[in-house]
Amino acid sequence: MITVIGSINMDIAIQTDIFPKQGETVLGNLFTTIPGGKGANQAVAVARLGSQVQMVGAVGKDSFGDELKSNLENENIVVDSVVRTSNSTGIANILLHDQDNRIIVVPGANFDVTKDLIDENMELIKKSSLIMLQLEIPVETIEYVLEICQQFEIPVLLNPAPAANFKREWIEKVTFLTPNETECLVMFGADYETVLKQYPNKIIVTLGGDGAAYHNGSEIVRIAGYKTTAIDTTGAGDTFNGAFAHAITSGSSIDEAVYFANIAASLSVEKFGAQGGMPTLQEVNARLE
Ligand code: ADP
Repeated sequence: MITVIGSINMDIAIQTDIFPKQGETVLGNLFTTIPGGKGANQAVAVARLGSQVQMVGAVGKDSFGDELKSNLENENIVVDSVVRTSNSTGIANILLHDQDNRIIVVPGANFDVTKDLIDENMELIKKSSLIMLQLEIPVETIEYVLEICQQFEIPVLLNPAPAANFKREWIEKVTFLTPNETECLVMFGADYETVLKQYPNKIIVTLGGDGAAYHNGSEIVRIAGYKTTAIDTTGAGDTFNGAFAHAITSGSSIDEAVYFANIAASLSVEKFGAQGGMPTLQEVNARLE
């Protein structure tokens, strides 16, 4: 069983012709609520591919909490360790105007993913084939989970997003680190390929439409992006992470897992929404043939 310990959010998107100025009220065009949060997205990506996955997380006792928990259940994700707390459910308020966006994230209940919640789920964590982490829950919790995983030799995949929360010393403790190129530049600077070389078969950089790269111990391996027309790239990284996790826990080599994840993520950009485009195993296999 793969365990995702991470964020669960409702993305609240408003499409508008004008951004309001201070004190001003304007009429928007379109309002949507879409399940998101990197933790939840990656759990959905894993589940669509048919791997067993459980989520450790927190939502509020509000209606978004109800909706998000049932959304995960409908995707066949085990939600016994998703708790309801007195904070509001995490949200991302997204204002969209032409190609521009303005986003406010309120983590809310995601900050209730504490060390205590980890302690309550210790047995499940110890039995996991892989732990998946992102950086949208408290940093103390991340550090605590990394310590436990090191102590009990549980493999960990850390997707360092948002990269500002990343600490360099964590590299030693993770099995896989999967930044996108922007995150890689924030974490390691322009000469990040030197760091890839220092940590062969560990750091996998995703490069958007250009695919992905990692160092295999003797050279940098580049897996070219699959040529397609992107409709919406939201959640491409989450799909890549979920698919990589599915492949690696199913016995694939790193090379095979990156190849598989790159194809899965290319399918995800062809449809709207982060979770909306996440492919099934059949869909990935069809493109692999
Ligand atoms: P993030 O979504 O975290 O910013 P990337 O933009 O690097 O991450 O995308 C993750 C993966 O999604 C890439 O490694 C690639 O496999 C796939 N991908 C992203 N954009 C495209 C695209 N335009 N065409 C094909 N594949 C894409």
